[in-house]
Amino acid sequence: MKEEQSRKRRRGKNKKPQKTQPSLLPKHSTKLHKKTHQQKNPAHQSSSSSSSLKSSSFLDKMKARLAGGHFRMINEKLYTCTGKEALDYFKEDPELFDMYHTGYQEQMSHWPELPVNIIIKWLKELSSSLIVADFGCGDARLAKNVKNKVFSIDLVSNDPSVISCDMANTPLRPSSVDVAVFCLSLMGTNYASYLKEACRVLKPSGWLLIAEVKSRFDPNNGGADPNMFSKAVCEMGFTSALKDFSNKMFVLLYFKKKENQSSHGREIEWPELKPCIYKRR
Ligand code: SAH
Repeated sequence: MKEEQSRKRRRGKNKKPQKTQPSLLPKHSTKLHKKTHQQKNPAHQSSSSSSSLKSSSFLDKMKARLAGGHFRMINEKLYTCTGKEALDYFKEDPELFDMYHTGYQEQMSHWPELPVNIIIKWLKELSSSLIVADFGCGDARLAKNVKNKVFSIDLVSNDPSVISCDMANTPLRPSSVDVAVFCLSLMGTNYASYLKEACRVLKPSGWLLIAEVKSRFDPNNGGADPNMFSKAVCEMGFTSALKDFSNKMFVLLYFKKKENQSSHGREIEWPELKPCIYKRR
């Protein structure tokens, strides 16, 4: 009985947001359109048009708030389910993916620096001949900004160059890439299986780059212990090359795959990574 009740509660929590009409997304600004119209027709500056202006800006605010709410709901879902469940969620309604990314871009526009840009810079300085796999590529910004061959992977593909799959099971060949990137994408509760997949497809001495939201690695605020996380990655067959905590918003961890993988057979203890919940703005 209790279990049924809590299941119902969980179902309620993960309920899909109501489908938003395309016109409800804050892409186009009716406000802007009205202003231009007014500039052309000063006679229209009556009290009725100023009240309609007011109501349209109110409407814009409401639309933005609604879109923000949908983004946060999808975001929370992705952090609290497995990759397989996330894949099914988006398969059922691919529009949710666009909704998620509209909100994600909005959130990122407030970050002074984006981790993906640091990774782009790092790659450009290293070599354009390295083959890269971008796990959880989003809008494939990495592939679009480097000369390297990049396998862009995400749950949904709006672009023919993006491989759509759960990144725990990619179609990439074993030992076929030089760099595996996870930029703000260790979202699923089974995140360790994504890292195992990266280990499988990486060549010996290949790079593993992980950028994550800082609060997820802040043990003073319920985040994971970065040393415990790093230890788990190393036990999988990597050495830690660099930990960069200098940015206010994210951490950057660089690992190198060992030349020789020696399986010790012990179960790796992965710390739990808490969801990154974005605040309402
Ligand atoms: N790396 C990009 C996008 C980060 S948003 C950037 O830095 O801009 C995180 C992305 O990870 C989302 O696009 C989400 O769909 C993807 N993702 C999360 N879990 C995934 C999974 N199991 N398989 C594939 N992609 C996943």
